[in-house]
Order: sequence, then structure tokens, then C-alpha cells
Amino acid sequence: MNSTATTDWQIATVTSIHVESPRVKLFTLELPVNTPFRAGQHFDVRLTAPDGYKAQRSYSVSSSPEPASNPTSIELAVELISDGEVSSYFHEAVELGDKIELRGPIGGHFTWSPIAAKPVVMIAGGSGIAPIMSMIRHRSNAAVIKISPMLLMFSARTEADILFSAELESIAVNDPDFNLIIALTRSEEVESDNRSFRQFRRIDRPTIKSALSTLATHPSRSYICGGSSFVEAMANYLLDLGIPNNSVRTERFGP
Ligand SMILES: Cc1cc2nc3c(=O)[nH]c(=O)nc-3n(C[C@H](O)[C@H](O)[C@H](O)COP(=O)(O)OP(=O)(O)OC[C@H]3O[C@@H](n4cnc5c(N)ncnc54)[C@H](O)[C@@H]3O)c2cc1C
Repeated sequence: MNSTATTDWQIATVTSIHVESPRVKLFTLELPVNTPFRAGQHFDVRLTAPDGYKAQRSYSVSSSPEPASNPTSIELAVELISDGEVSSYFHEAVELGDKIELRGPIGGHFTWSPIAAKPVVMIAGGSGIAPIMSMIRHRSNAAVIKISPMLLMFSARTEADILFSAELESIAVNDPDFNLIIALTRSEEVESDNRSFRQFRRIDRPTIKSALSTLATHPSRSYICGGSSFVEAMANYLLDLGIPNNSVRTERFGP
């Protein structure tokens, strides 16, 4: 299998489609050439209409980079945006076996490798969990002895909107160095609701302050991903709580 340059367009094949939530589908794309990537990177997807019109969007890889020597497929988590050109196509038209044009991996700023043992903080809003999920999976698969403690604060509207919930909760239950807070912004807590890791309000300054206090040291890095206003609010909370600006990395998916 050959390797490819980031700028080359490849034709990938859709090998699995999974409905992850009411608004997000996971697509596994089989790549024709060996394409190593780092956790946090994205690919550009390009659609071409019969009249030649092209639409191009970026989608983060949610799968782990392993095995780095033979990365033949990637998982993308595509959120349906109302009237969105490309996300609607993925949700309404893409079928198993379809060919999708893409290029990548792209991006170096919003990446993480499990080399430093210092704590890492992740804050995700909605589909902004995608690149962070790649980092979390990479961390779980890493063959290093002392792995970075990780704190994930994940904002979703309702229980049904929590992407990768079973996987995240399983990691949180089994790994004492992985702290999980799921913030449900449009759900009321009911008495019978006894689920762990949940808070029934937005991620706010008190949430972050109390979560940071569980870490032994300041995080070496913080990663925030989601819509622009979410990212901006979360970054401001971190800076306000004394986290250095140059340790905060952000990725904005949309308005
Ligand atoms: C580096 C990077 C990585 C990304 N990774 C992912 C990913 O993993 N999963 C994912 O689902 N998306 C991701 N996105 C967003 C994605 O590239 C598209 O912008 C998104 O799918 C909307 O495209 P569309 O063609 O469906 O909508 P468009 O036709 O471009 O837009 C339709 C309308 O929706 C608004 N809009 C566009 N994007 C959003 C949004 N995210 N939220 C709310 N409103 C929006 C537009 O302003 C416009 O009014 C990423 C973006 C970037 C820059």
C-alpha cells in the first residue's frame, strides 16, 4: 500500500454508517492508500454535483490513529445542520459502498499525543467531541506506562444527544485517571434519574473550577472544540481561572 501526500484527493469507500444520535451519524471510510494521521486532525471532504458544482467541508477524525502503520480507515461524526449542504447530503443520500472524495490529514495545532504524564483538559460541545474522541481513544490504546490524567467536560442537549456515551462511561468507570462530566443543557433532572457523570446545567465557571480542583497540577494543555460561541465562552472561563493562554487550543466547527 502506498502513502499519500496531504494535498492529494483520495476516493474513499463508505464501509459503515451508524446512527449515533438523532442528529449525528458516524461514517467509516475505507481509504485507498496508507494515510497516517494524528489524533485531532481533520480531512476535507469534497462533493461534486453532476453540473460540476463543488462543495467542500472539513470533518474531524473521531477514530483512533492506531494502528499508525496501517491506517486504512477513518471514522467521521457528521452532525446534521438544517439546510446544510454537505451534512444533509451525508445524512440523506450517502449509502454503504458510496465513494467519497477527501484529502488529509490536515491540521497540526489541535492535536495531542499521549507522551506527557501531565493532566489534559478536554471541553467539547456537541459534535465537537469528534477530534477529542480520537484523542481519548488514542490515550486508551497507548502503550505507555504512565498516561496523562484526562478530564473531559462534554456538553450535550439531552441524553439522546450524548455521542459515544457508552464508550465514554466505560472508560470513566474503568480508568481512575479519566474524569468525565456530561453537562445536559436541555434536560431536567428527574428523581428516578440516577445516572453517573451527569450535571443538569451548562458547563459554567463553577463546573470548570471544581473539575480543575480534582487535578493534581494545572493541566499541561486544554483542548476546546464546538461552535464558536461555546469555544469562546469555555476559553474565557479557563483563562479567568488562571490557565495560561498558550496552553489552550481551540477548534471551531461553526457559528
Ligand atoms: C476543522 C473543522 C473540523 C470540523 N469537524 C466537524 C466534525 O467532525 N463534525 C461535524 O459535524 N462538523 C464538523 N465541522 C463543520 C463542518 O465542516 C461543516 O461546517 C458543517 O458540517 C456544516 O456544513 P454544511 O454544508 O452542512 O452547512 P452549510 O451549507 O455550510 O451551512 C448551512 C447553515 O448552517 C450554518 N452552520 C454551518 N456549520 C454549522 C455548525 N457546525 N453548527 C451550526 N450551524 C452551522 C451556516 O452558517 C449556514 O447558515 C468542522 C469544521 C472545521 C472548520
